[in-house]
Order: sequence, then C-alpha cells, then structure tokens
Amino acid sequence: MRMNFCPKCGHKLDIGLVALRERPICNPANGGCGFIDFGRYTLGTGGLVVQTGPDGVRKALLIQRNEEPNRGGWTIPGGFVEFDETADAAVVREVEEETGLKTRNLGLAGYRNRADPGDNSSYIVFLLEITGGELKTEPDPEIAQVGFFTLEEMQGMGRLAPLSYELAAAALEDRIQLFQPHTVRGLNGRPPFTLYI
Ligand SMILES: [Zn+2]
Repeated sequence: MRMNFCPKCGHKLDIGLVALRERPICNPANGGCGFIDFGRYTLGTGGLVVQTGPDGVRKALLIQRNEEPNRGGWTIPGGFVEFDETADAAVVREVEEETGLKTRNLGLAGYRNRADPGDNSSYIVFLLEITGGELKTEPDPEIAQVGFFTLEEMQGMGRLAPLSYELAAAALEDRIQLFQPHTVRGLNGRPPFTLYI
C-alpha cells in the first residue's frame, strides 16, 4: 500500500526520484518536510519447540489461531517483533503469551523473506528449549488451542501453514542446521549484541 499523505506532517506526498527510483516524498519544494517513503518492512518471529515423549516419539508445538487473519489455522507460535526489542526476545515473549511455556533460545533455525506489495516481510525462526511454565489448556481471544503434534498428525491437518509445516518437519526429523548465538561487544560504548553464526 502506497502512502498518499506524509505520516510526519500530513502534507500530500509527491513522487520524486530518490536513490535511483521513484518514491513518494514529502516535497520541501512544495512546503513538505522532506520525508521519503521507502516502503514498509515488517519483522515476525516464530518458535520451534520440540518435545520427546516417554515413548520416544517426537512432537512439535503448534497453536490454533482464534482471530483473523486465518482464524482456525494452525502455526508454530510467534508474532511480530516490537520496535524496541530483538527478535530473539520477541519469540520468547510471544511463545509464553500464546502457549504458557517459558523457553530459552538455542539458536537461529530459519529465515523467510517475502516482497509482498507494499510490505517487505521477514520472518525469523528460532529453536527453543522449554525451561518452565505450563501448557495453556483454555482458549483465549487470540488462541483457540495449543498442543504438541507428531509429523503424521501434522500431515493430516488441513489448515497448517506451509511454512510452519516445513520448519516443524525439519525439527522433528533433525534436519535443522542451527546458527548459534554469540554475544559480541558493541563499539564506542554501544551495548553488546547477539550475532548468529
Ligand atoms: Zn512531511
């Protein structure tokens, strides 16, 4: 979706040539503030949580959505990354909110990027380990059901997101190649950050 008005000052946007392509700009020549619309980027995150039962059968954690879009559909737990948090913090927060389980990040398991019209969307998937909490048993406005499922059970689910299936299948079949988190010191007094390599 292209913006028609400046989100900073409300002025009508013109189309101008910036960095070799036409973009909506809040044109200072017409009294605008100089804002340039480079488009929208969204960052989502999902958590892969695998549990091995006493019978040795491996299962992956899925949630069933209770709200639109895709109400009734199944996915791995997760959500959008807030502007002031990192993706690895967001996934732990979202998994606890959606499933009741407290988890720890083991590493980066997957990445998906899609250039949708007006929204360049990234989705980062982490492999998580359960550290506590209890699996939610009651539905809430966001989540209809939560549970652990085998690969076979997932194959019978009509409304499992293909992305979630690919990731959960890779995790259950031990095909995940994990990028490990490393803490790196920041330069010039900036805080340390996590690098996945
Ligand atoms: Zn403006």
